[in-house]
Amino acid sequence: MDMSNSINPSQSEPARLEVYSETSTVYREPPPPYSSEILVTNQPTIRQEIIVQPPLKSLPTFYNCPNCEKRILTNVQYLNSRKTHLFAGFICGFTVWCMLCCVGIIPYIVNTCKKAHHYCPNCNSFLGAYSRV
Ligand SMILES: [Zn+2]
Repeated sequence: MDMSNSINPSQSEPARLEVYSETSTVYREPPPPYSSEILVTNQPTIRQEIIVQPPLKSLPTFYNCPNCEKRILTNVQYLNSRKTHLFAGFICGFTVWCMLCCVGIIPYIVNTCKKAHHYCPNCNSFLGAYSRV
């Protein structure tokens, strides 16, 4: 028996790929109908309070202390600044020719020529400084 001439159907013919194409009917669910109702969800509302601080001046000012979070009237300490010394030197230099250079101490006496440092009377924290000159 000659096996070379025998035709083995599995070797000589290319393997047929049988592709099954199923034509099945897909039943889709209809889309949900559009409704005019508005979905209301209970989301937590976030409230933000924006506190507008008044500008600090040379006088005590009502202010919301960011440290102790209370509404306070600021304590003011008047301190000499570099501008106070320059102003006094300018007055002294300008009045030295008429022997009135003692007028140069005026910036050290008048609070408006000094730098105002505002403090909280409750927690004693520094709130800010104001300088007019
Ligand atoms: Zn405070």
